[in-house]
Amino acid sequence: MEYSMNNASLIDLKNLTLEELTEFLAGMGKERFRARQIMRWMYGRLAQDFEAMSDLSKELRSQLSQRARISHLVPETVEESQDGTRKYLFRLEDGETVETVRIPMEDHRCTLCISTQVGCAMGCVFCHTGSFGLVRHLAPAEIVNQVCAAMAEAPVNNIVLMGMGEPLHNLDNVVKALQILYTPEGFDFSPRKVTLSTAGLVPEMLELGRRIRVNLAVSLNATTDEVRNRLMPINRRYPLAELMKACREYPLQPRQRITFEYILIRDTNDSEQDARRLVKLLHGIKAKVNLIPYNEHPASPFKAPAEESVSRFQGYLLDRGMVAVRRASKGQDIAAACGQLKGKLTAAQSRQSSVDSSSPEHSSKRGNR
Ligand code: SF4
Repeated sequence: MEYSMNNASLIDLKNLTLEELTEFLAGMGKERFRARQIMRWMYGRLAQDFEAMSDLSKELRSQLSQRARISHLVPETVEESQDGTRKYLFRLEDGETVETVRIPMEDHRCTLCISTQVGCAMGCVFCHTGSFGLVRHLAPAEIVNQVCAAMAEAPVNNIVLMGMGEPLHNLDNVVKALQILYTPEGFDFSPRKVTLSTAGLVPEMLELGRRIRVNLAVSLNATTDEVRNRLMPINRRYPLAELMKACREYPLQPRQRITFEYILIRDTNDSEQDARRLVKLLHGIKAKVNLIPYNEHPASPFKAPAEESVSRFQGYLLDRGMVAVRRASKGQDIAAACGQLKGKLTAAQSRQSSVDSSSPEHSSKRGNR
């Protein structure tokens, strides 16, 4: 089976969309409605085995356990920041690790930031995960199981695919995971509550728009190809003009906007000319800009922007009628940004005690993408 992870003869039902589960059960001669029932158990009630599914006959439960299994994740470590941000590290069945971050919002709601790959191939220079390179894609089950594990602890209101990895580099599995998240009998997330962040894989962005509804965030971080090539190597393949064209073509619902993440780095992308170019770049796009001042740290060549440049930059955008929000970094004291906890473990495992990989490598959770 394509996604079986432990035992090749058992299919992990968490890898299946409702349609696929229905087909799987039809292959066993079972009724269609059983798929909805099982979805409800796996995601609505977070059941981890067939035994718990008390409205299925004993016979069906036993048949299922001979052919299938239900995977789940248990956090290996959980760190909590002073601001309430919680970072979970999950060990996968093959020993790899991913992290997930729960970010409390002002209105007592919470956003869950999930990973889609182990490592990442995009190599953005401001990102710790990028420095590991890509190890592998996550299966749909491994993506949705991050949500299951967090939900087992407390409700989750919004989901952002903004953790480790470039979601569009793992498009098929990500689309499946979104379908599972949206299934009414499962988590029943509204697509309005889910945001996918990309570094700018243009063809996949357009395909995503054709295949499924989801809010789109683009990690922009520069207004010229010269600077963006330096910060984000993907720009050499899909330069700004192509990226902006794809954004203009991305299907949006009424009142929906594309979020542009912009990490402000001193003397790199924080000038008034940058603000002016940004307004031009986003002309005609229903956009919202998240401005994230970079958090400098000793191991990074980049510097935090001066307070006046952040205000000037934001003011310039606001004066031109743009939606521009300054984002506060969350969970800095626990390094709640993609790759940092993994970095810490890797360092510990290789006994490089002199490496302090817990120091903040990123500007913020959002600043990674
Ligand atoms: S910022 Fe995102 S896309 Fe870039 S290297 Fe890091 S995880 Fe990958």
